Amino acid sequence: MTFSELGVGAEVLQAITDLGFERPMPVQEAVLPILLNSETDLIALAQTGTGKTAAFGIPTIQNLDYSNKNTEAVVLSPTRELCVQIANDLSNYAKYIPECTVVPVYGGASVELQRKALKKGAKIIVATPGRINDLLRRKYIDLSHVRWAVLDEADEMLDMGFKDDLDFILSQTPEDKHTMLFSATMPDEVARIAANYMHNPQEVTIGIRNSGSANVRHCYYLVQAKDRYLALKRIADYYPSIYAIIFCRTRSETQEVASALIRDGYNADALHGDLSQAQRDHVMERFRCRNLQMLVATDVAARGLDVSDLTHVINYNLPDEIEQYTHRSGRTGRADKTGISIAIINLRERHKIKAIEKIINKKFEQVSVPTGMDVCEKQFYNMIAKVEKVEVNYDEINKFVGEVVKRLEWMDKKELISRFVSVEFNRFLEYYRNSPDLNVAEREEKAKIEKKKSKVKHNDVGMARLFFNLGYEDKILPQRLIGLINDTCDNKDIKIGKIDILERFSYVDVDGMYANEIIEAFHGETYKRKPLIVEAANAKKAGNDKKGRGKRNRQDDKAFAKEARNRRDAASPKKKAKGENFAEKRSKKKRRREQNK
Ligand code: AMP
Repeated sequence: MTFSELGVGAEVLQAITDLGFERPMPVQEAVLPILLNSETDLIALAQTGTGKTAAFGIPTIQNLDYSNKNTEAVVLSPTRELCVQIANDLSNYAKYIPECTVVPVYGGASVELQRKALKKGAKIIVATPGRINDLLRRKYIDLSHVRWAVLDEADEMLDMGFKDDLDFILSQTPEDKHTMLFSATMPDEVARIAANYMHNPQEVTIGIRNSGSANVRHCYYLVQAKDRYLALKRIADYYPSIYAIIFCRTRSETQEVASALIRDGYNADALHGDLSQAQRDHVMERFRCRNLQMLVATDVAARGLDVSDLTHVINYNLPDEIEQYTHRSGRTGRADKTGISIAIINLRERHKIKAIEKIINKKFEQVSVPTGMDVCEKQFYNMIAKVEKVEVNYDEINKFVGEVVKRLEWMDKKELISRFVSVEFNRFLEYYRNSPDLNVAEREEKAKIEKKKSKVKHNDVGMARLFFNLGYEDKILPQRLIGLINDTCDNKDIKIGKIDILERFSYVDVDGMYANEIIEAFHGETYKRKPLIVEAANAKKAGNDKKGRGKRNRQDDKAFAKEARNRRDAASPKKKAKGENFAEKRSKKKRRREQNK
């Protein structure tokens, strides 16, 4: 079908032809006939990058009444970047309809300038929920004549906590308007919004409901948590033309990974909420124009970043909310291109992969982390391909080449190539010489965890004592330990009892029911890059021979008492004196008792 067969009018048709749209994309083919021929509510499940802006934009532009100046359409989008992009797209589609004024309003920019723009007239307002809410309350905007409302990326808006804003904004629009909801996924929250605000909506699904793009391969690498960064480096080295977003869970992790990559010589930078808007814009622009190869980002910061030809999306850590995975992976494989979504996981995250497979309706492939040799081989051939493709400015370099040819005459062809390649290649060979295999040998790892678990003992109140190889030396405090347990275990409600922190290790009493879960969760984890050991506090004792057992345990207790004394003495000289007095009295008593015997 052509755009004109779908009912697109002459002015818009000319505008999209100018943009180079030749044929409608699937979401447009599905949505345009519905919206152009009837004024119905509509739910469209489609990913970003599928052409949905034109799917809702064209009918909106065509259906407005240009005989008055009222605002008749409002488009809500989760981020400033997306808001600006939609407003630009709509202005382009409405290029030949001068009365169709499109005004974007979003946070982080001058309210005054936006007020002035609105005052000149806004047939369509494209807005982020927070800012339009603000402008509505200041009475700079009147939505009482709205006939079309679009909720774009509804799942993202709810995810970002805009539910109350949406309620307020929609309450300011007439009951009988038409509402269009676009979302990549359909979690319950979005379904609830649809039920509350829409009347008998038609539903259109592009691709499989809640699924990822068909062009995306989903892969995972199974490594120890401590090897996550090394695995990332291998991936980056194995794909020299990589153009990727690397998703992290927190701002600090994002900064840490980006800084490490920069330090190690990669073309990478960070994008997260601790940066100012100007810094974020700068990083995004560098990434958009490919001055940056790898962007390390949090989910929130990456929203609205519209880049359509990523080669990879890398989940450095899987998101806490697994639905978020669809948004991440949907950033690659766009506009008929193929892409790879990679998850770097450890053993205990396997269940997350299973849960995601259910959502995206696709299987993940387990892929081996390339070995050092694999990387070297790939880099070598990549270099050769570059040599084959490189453009040579003979005129400019001829004057030097003649001299060099004479100088290197004594080398044969093979020697010459080997030497030239080695200039660049030696650093890879050096780095990867004797590099370890990062792939987790699954069975062995499971056996190790089971061994640790089997040693857990419960006391009479159902608590179990765990050993952590973290102590004062690691600047760990009880609150941090509790936080660490909560962060590492998905279960956030574990009862924790006595905590003894010593110089180099700690003991923590935990609800016995969860002891195994905690041991498993910490297996292979790191704390500030230190590999963690968490096991039953008596594990060492049980593991020793009969003679050593009690001794080892008593030694632990003695060490504990000694460290506790040292800490007390360092903290308070008064207590030290009291302690010495007490020890003196106790030994006098002991001596007297022995004399009396
Ligand atoms: P969207 O999902 O609306 O952000 O669109 C993704 C990209 O596809 C944008 O760069 C659009 O300009 C482009 N696009 C949308 N519709 C078409 C079409 N029918 N033909 C070619 N490109 C399109």
